[in-house]
Amino acid sequence: MRTVFTLVDLRSARLPFLGTVGFVPTMGYLHDGHLALIRRAREECEYVVVSIFVNPTQFGANEDLSKYPRDLERDLHLIEPYTDLVWTPSAEVMYPQGYQTWVEVEAVTRPLEGEMRPGHFKGVTTIVAKLFNAVQPHKAYFGQKDAQQVAVIRQMVRDLNIPVEIVVCPTTREADGLAMSSRNVYLDPEQRKAATVLFRSLSAAKDAYEQGERDAEKLRQITKDILASEPLAEMQYVSCADYDTLEELDTVKGKALLSMAVFFGKTRLIDNFVLS
Ligand code: AMP
Repeated sequence: MRTVFTLVDLRSARLPFLGTVGFVPTMGYLHDGHLALIRRAREECEYVVVSIFVNPTQFGANEDLSKYPRDLERDLHLIEPYTDLVWTPSAEVMYPQGYQTWVEVEAVTRPLEGEMRPGHFKGVTTIVAKLFNAVQPHKAYFGQKDAQQVAVIRQMVRDLNIPVEIVVCPTTREADGLAMSSRNVYLDPEQRKAATVLFRSLSAAKDAYEQGERDAEKLRQITKDILASEPLAEMQYVSCADYDTLEELDTVKGKALLSMAVFFGKTRLIDNFVLS
């Protein structure tokens, strides 16, 4: 595995990769969810490129950029068995002085995370477009855990004719159902226990869906009632929306996304289930 920092080194290390290149963009502090994406890329592609970059432009002013967890040495050790090339650019490499170009996707970025985190997706689409341009992958791997990010990136790739296949991998969970996230380290032991309420509430709504419930408001209400039963959980939103457009539904007909954001103290967790 080769580790590079600059764009010039990335390009020259990428040049000899003549077969299928799989790419996994990450912000580091890697866990089994990230590794599942990297292993999938390893199975499907001749070359695997991973980026580790905590992208400042996708963090809001009140968010956790400066204290976002980092451990590059540990990350490199974890991915070494599956990765050919890892790129860990600095903020100066990605956003040099005088930087002034942004990629913005419209409607699908507006609800849910886009509404709660203004500017977040402008940062995400800009950095992902820049990473794609630099790495030039054939396939790029993203987690269903960040469902709106997947919808937004798919839209961007379609709209800008970027020649990359987006592969979506299932959410990796802890044994008790909590979706793995680099941010879980912020939870104290009591909050960590309480955080299983996301999975429990999604599971209850999914059970109702599987028993035939198609009224989206009822599915949202089942989810909210269980979240409300956990005193440490402060719900920010619960949504039952069309899987592709993310518009809220009255009735679930095709593929739908049941999603939520919940605070535990200052830590904000998101999770979702696909209904289909
Ligand atoms: P991040 O480092 O949080 O930006 O995540 C990098 C990639 O890993 C994104 O595509 C995420 O959706 C994906 N990812 C993060 N957590 C999980 C998880 N628990 N299961 C599957 N994919 C995940």
